[in-house]
This record gives sequence, C-alpha cells and structure tokens, in this order.
Amino acid sequence: MKYPDARHYIGGRFVAGGPRFLDVHNPADGSTIARVPLGDAGTVDAAVAAARQAFPDWSRTPIKERVQVFFRYKTLLHQHLAELTELITEEHGKVRPEAEAEILKAIELTEFACSLPQLVTGEVLEVSRGVECRVERYPLGVVAAVNPFNFPSMVPHWTIPNAIALGNTYILKPSELVPLSAGRIAELLKDAGLPDGVFNVVHGDKDVVEALCDHSGVEAVTFVGSTRVAKEVYRRATSHLKRALCLGGAKNHVIVMPDADPEMASGGVLAAMAGCTGQRCMAASVMVAVSKTDHIVNRLAELARGMVTGRDVGPVITSQAKARIEGYITEAEQAGARVLVDGRGAVVRGKEGGWYVGPTVIDQVRPEMKIAREEVFGPVLAVVRTGNLDEALAVENASPYGNAASIFTESGGAARATMERASAGMVGVNVGVPVPREPFGFGGWNESRFGTGDITGKSSIEFWTKTKKITTKWNREAGTNWMAK
Ligand code: NAD
Repeated sequence: MKYPDARHYIGGRFVAGGPRFLDVHNPADGSTIARVPLGDAGTVDAAVAAARQAFPDWSRTPIKERVQVFFRYKTLLHQHLAELTELITEEHGKVRPEAEAEILKAIELTEFACSLPQLVTGEVLEVSRGVECRVERYPLGVVAAVNPFNFPSMVPHWTIPNAIALGNTYILKPSELVPLSAGRIAELLKDAGLPDGVFNVVHGDKDVVEALCDHSGVEAVTFVGSTRVAKEVYRRATSHLKRALCLGGAKNHVIVMPDADPEMASGGVLAAMAGCTGQRCMAASVMVAVSKTDHIVNRLAELARGMVTGRDVGPVITSQAKARIEGYITEAEQAGARVLVDGRGAVVRGKEGGWYVGPTVIDQVRPEMKIAREEVFGPVLAVVRTGNLDEALAVENASPYGNAASIFTESGGAARATMERASAGMVGVNVGVPVPREPFGFGGWNESRFGTGDITGKSSIEFWTKTKKITTKWNREAGTNWMAK
C-alpha cells in the first residue's frame, strides 16, 4: 500500500484499529492506496471522553488566545500546500488545481476564524439607571461534524476552525472514502499548538454517525452529504435534543437568457458543470436555455468537446458512481433527449483502471425526465428549453432542492427577478458557482439544508455558541423599574 492505514485520533494520539476496515482507492487509476478503520460506539465513547476532558480548559482559554492556534495553523497550511494538495489528488482523484483550490479555501476559512474575536464582543446596555444587561457567548461543549467525500479538506474546514475557535471541543467524522487528509489536519493542528483532546477524528460509516447522534456527551452535530442521509441524521440528532445543522444534496439550475454574453455564459456554465467533475453540491446540473440561445448551447458543446478527461476533468469517486452517472445519460437518451457531447465510456491512457466520465451535454431534456429532477453528481449538463424567464423560473422553483441558482444575462430586470424568485439559498448573476466567500455564510434552502442558519461565516457563530443574558446592579441607589426591583 502507498500509505499506512488511516487511524483514529483521540486525545492527541493516533489510535490504530477498526474494528472493521475498508480499502481506500485512488479513483484516478483504481489502485488501492490504504485502509481505513471503521469505528464503533466504543470508539465514539473514547473520543467523547477525550473531548469532554479537554473542554473545561479550552473553553476557559480567552478567545484571543484560542485564535493564535489558527494564525499558526494557517501558516502551516500555506507551508504544506503542495503536500496537502498531493494527498487530496491521491485519495480523491481530483486534478491538481482543484485539489490546491480546496486547501486555499481551507486557508480562507481559517482566516475567518482568526477574525472571530472582533465579531463576538457581546452586547451591553444600561437598561435603567445603574442597571446593565449584557449578552455573553459560551461554547456548547463537545460537537461533532460528519463529512462527505467530495471535499476531503474544504468541507471539514467549514466547521473545524470556527467551532474550535469559539471554544468547543470537536470530533471529525471524515468520509470513509477519503480518510487520509484528516490525519494531516490533526498533525498540523497539534503542531500549531492545539491542546490534546480539543480535536479528535473517528473514522467510520453509519455506525459511528449514529453513535455520535445518540451520545449524551455530544451537544451538537453538523452533517454534509446526501439529502437522504441528511434527513436521517437531522431526525436522529434532534430526537436526542441536540442542535443539528444538516446540509444535503442539490440540483442547481442555471438560466441562460438570449442576451447573455456568449463567451461568459458558455464558459461559465461549462466550468460550473464540469469543474470538480460535477461532484460538488454547487455544480450546475440543469441549464435552462431561454428562447433563442442555440448559439450559446452550441458554443458550450464545442468547449466541452475540447476538454481532456484525465487532465481537465478528474475521475468520479467509485466504479458504482461511474455506472450510476452513465445510467442517467442512457436513460435520458432513451426518454428522447439528445446527447450532444457524450462522456460515457471515457478511458484515460495509462490510467485504464480509473473511473472516468467525460463532460456530457444533453439537449432537449424535459423537466419531468429523471435526469432533470434527480442529483446526478457527475459532469453532466441537462439542457431544458423554455420560451421565457417565467417558464425558466418555474422549472427552477419545481425542484425540491434549493442550494444554488444562477442566471447569465445582460438585463438587470431578469437578474433581479432571478435574485428574488429563485428558490435557492445561494444565487449567482453571471456567476455559475455562487459560493459565498467569507465572511458570508454557506447554506441552501429546501431539501438542501435542514436546521437554521448557515454552516460558515457569521451565521455559524449562532450555531456554535449559546448566549447568556446577564443583568447587573452594583449600587443600592441604582434605578429600579417595573421589571426588576
Ligand atoms: P453521503 O450522504 O453518502 O455520506 C455523507 C456522510 O454520511 C459520510 O461521512 C458517510 O459515512 C455518512 N453516512 C452514509 N450513510 C449514512 C447513514 N445511513 N447514516 C448515517 N451516516 C451515513 O454523501 P457523499 O456521497 O459522501 O457526498 C455526496 C453528497 O453530499 C451529494 O449529495 C452532495 O450534494 C452532498 N454535499 C452537499 C453539500 C452542501 O453543502 N449542501 C456539500 C458537499 C456535498
């Protein structure tokens, strides 16, 4: 094996052992590169105990000291950029620039956490003569974050720096498909000076996630993954009266108006569709082409044909994912859609064992077809034709998901209508992947998000803390009022 077995990380130490194990593959060539242990309720117990032990000291450390760890950690991420990028290309298969972008985003998320002392200064007001009310924020305790396969480093960093800088102690549950980055995150946090037990990693699958949801020592759970599991985790965690924020799958629509700049629209939609091999919850999945937009569809298809699979587009995560995605394309074709660019059966020379699907553009898709309704999670764009913007927005609004929606247009009116009427938490105008950057929060609507607030940015402060409202009076002659004598 290229790498040693992944290990749980509990109380500042790597802990070997399963009890069960899974092989970890590099999807770019299908090789087996490591094994991941699958923990159980006992592993979760040990991690919760370590995190609980670390909580009193860490939560009482002033926030200005806590964030010093993240200033140092940010520098370490920069210093180890090449090595961390390499690890992601191995365990996930994504192409190097996309792997590097993930670490750069992790750095930006860490940078935001460094600014938290400026954002959580609390509030105080003299409510009657000599009587003050103040609001102070307190961390919750031990918190847990369950992660998907598609961003082995970026998505964990949605929660690690903010939750920990705000005084919580933390358990990471990486995706069992991409478990290796978590070990390096643990080492670098330790090198940055994070005390033992504040950050822990438990590898595993459903059993570990259920144990985290059920454990009385865990105060809050975040989840990022598919909608089916997001619902299960949200129900399970909240049934145990925990705070939960669960982000699910997506089906993102990009409306293209006839007045759109053809180069900006075709290039922007293609990048949003094929970037990260379509394996991102912000991927453009349906292009709603309004009226006379043949020239843009044709240009997009031409650009898609020019992309080189294996160089510009990485593999999909498993052979099962490849079969599922190709099945969607075949089913759409059989239902009467026209495959303009066909990525089925893609093979990369020298990496014949890899799981590749090339960029695929399918025209004449009708909104009721499966490929227009379900999350495909691959480099596949379904083009739905409509006569006007109202019809296009109706197609977008009919989706049960609500992560992102975008419009390409030169018209302020059409842009404004989309901003107001799209049923999505993140909207783009001439931007195909409208990921809000710090300090703005990341979060969708509808079946793309369960729980309140966003997982990053200022909104996450509400999730990771509880407030205490304190009323004080120090002098006997201070004012009294009808509320408090
Ligand atoms: P997934 O739901 O299969 O797995 C996510 C996590 O849940 C993993 O850690 C896995 O071990 C665990 N898990 C799997 N089945 C479980 C079960 N029955 N009970 C409890 N835990 C379980 O998702 P994935 O395939 O790893 O990731 C892809 C999905 O994630 C896509 O749907 C994508 O849209 C979504 N995603 C959403 C966002 C967002 O911000 N909304 C971001 C990234 C990915």
